[in-house]
Amino acid sequence: TQAPERHEFQAEVKQVLDIVVHSLYTDKEIFVRELVSNASDATEKLRHTQVAEKDADIFDADLDLEIQVTSDEEAGEITIRDFGIGMTHDELIENLGTIAHSGSKAFLNALKESGERNDNLIGQFGVGFYSVFMVADSVKVYTRSWKKEGECYCWSSDGSGAYEIEQVEGERRGTRIVISLKDEYKDFAKKNRIEEIIKKYSAFVQFPVKVDGEKLNTIGAIWLKNKSDVSDDEYKEFYKFQAKAFDEPRFWLHFNADAPLEINALLYAPTENMEGFGFGRMEPGVGLYCRKVLIDSEPKNLLPDWLRFVRGVVDSADLPLNISRESMQDSSLIQKLNKVITKRFLKTLEEKAKKEPEVYNDFWSSFGLFLKEGVTTDFTHRDQLLKLLRYESSYTEAGTTTSLADYLSRAPEGQKEIYYLFGPSREAIESGPYIEAFKARNIEVLYLYEPIDEFVMNHARAFEEKNFVSADNDDIDLDAIAPETDTDKGEALEASASEALCSFIKEKLGDEVSEVSASDRLVGSPAMIVNADKMMTAQMRKMMKAMQQ
Ligand code: ADP
Ligand code: MG
Repeated sequence: TQAPERHEFQAEVKQVLDIVVHSLYTDKEIFVRELVSNASDATEKLRHTQVAEKDADIFDADLDLEIQVTSDEEAGEITIRDFGIGMTHDELIENLGTIAHSGSKAFLNALKESGERNDNLIGQFGVGFYSVFMVADSVKVYTRSWKKEGECYCWSSDGSGAYEIEQVEGERRGTRIVISLKDEYKDFAKKNRIEEIIKKYSAFVQFPVKVDGEKLNTIGAIWLKNKSDVSDDEYKEFYKFQAKAFDEPRFWLHFNADAPLEINALLYAPTENMEGFGFGRMEPGVGLYCRKVLIDSEPKNLLPDWLRFVRGVVDSADLPLNISRESMQDSSLIQKLNKVITKRFLKTLEEKAKKEPEVYNDFWSSFGLFLKEGVTTDFTHRDQLLKLLRYESSYTEAGTTTSLADYLSRAPEGQKEIYYLFGPSREAIESGPYIEAFKARNIEVLYLYEPIDEFVMNHARAFEEKNFVSADNDDIDLDAIAPETDTDKGEALEASASEALCSFIKEKLGDEVSEVSASDRLVGSPAMIVNADKMMTAQMRKMMKAMQQ
């Protein structure tokens, strides 16, 4: 046999390890959750390989797919073993020596953001495999890949700067992790302690998890159950398990359909918007299953891109198992699933908005941006999405919003358009001149605060056949809609005097403006600039200019 190879951890891994090893984070037991979830992932991948590639030459093909945990209290050791896909020599280096995976990356990003050492982040984001070094003074990973031709290896490390890889003999397929606990954490190796932790964290693992031969997990695939047989706590726990999430779900949608496709779906809206935390674009996270077998944990086209924040599971018995992930992405079946699920999810949002407006409004303030993105990119669902938009307006109080339907229900008979104004804040919009004439006539104006809002208005064009019109447009005939309520105005200038004033101003401003004219649109302000270009508001022009630089 060859001498063990020594490798340095990648710099980012060293950083994570240093924090993990020295952290005061109290919930050390989460290392069990992380290792069991890795064992479960590896076993899911194996099962998928089995069904997807009929001719796959799988090493140790008839091993039972289960996860085995054993402990030796005296030696202070825990062993977690799976019969999943295992790892080759290069995969060991790639997977356990570098940071290519989700949890630790988010952890490092959050660390950079918070700018200081924060033990809580370990709990919030999870550091995956590396969490084991909170409790271990040495870890050995014995592994054998599912590929027929191959060798067995032992990866070992004490969690400081380096690890070793050595070729070994006689391993079965999969991975066996032997954890040697630090003296102060030897308690974890007590049989009842490890049983208690496994029960807590492995309830939803789709394979038997056995401690000393006894199966401890019982719940299984809750998305295939009847709603009445699943408790709220089980729904919440499943969300955390499946999405590897650290927040609570806001709400969920559990439905079964038989036609046109057989679908069992369980979808969650998270509490936290991770994109809002500056983690960059989220990856889709609704797993695709066929009769409990995971086909793809992050299928690309199962939901429209703007629903990438949704988590959960879609199971369809109509899926062919032996199809490559790539060709499945674009299959007509995925498109059909996409259509059904998106519609149901939007309907759920609509119902929430009606029956539990506080819950919906809260959802809107965290995830509204995604729906706005939907309006600008997804023509198919635009009408459904428009009903879900919420904006502050001259009618609402600060911090509360209105739907477009409610806006129209208050509009006077003669009003044929929906008016909006864009600005950085309520104060800025209300102190500007454009709002005056609308206020004076009690005509409601929507307040738009985010850059994407103008694109939303431009893409959507209209709601219930009423065009969206920026209130700084030059040809809005307000008197045709409603008379001014406050008639206490001073005396008007003589026509000739006002003409003279206009041409004086035009002369001073020259080519900066195309025309200067008297207007009845102003109440308290002496003058305003109106927009003669119907396609572009002043705000959009500013943005275009910024983009050209
Ligand atoms: P994550 O699970 O988020 O990818 P982890 O730090 O938990 O991150 O694991 C890193 C990688 O190591 C996994 O993505 C996987 O490729 C590999 N790995 C970990 N445990 C196992 C295992 N039991 N069997 C096979 N591969 C594993
Ligand atoms: Mg993991």
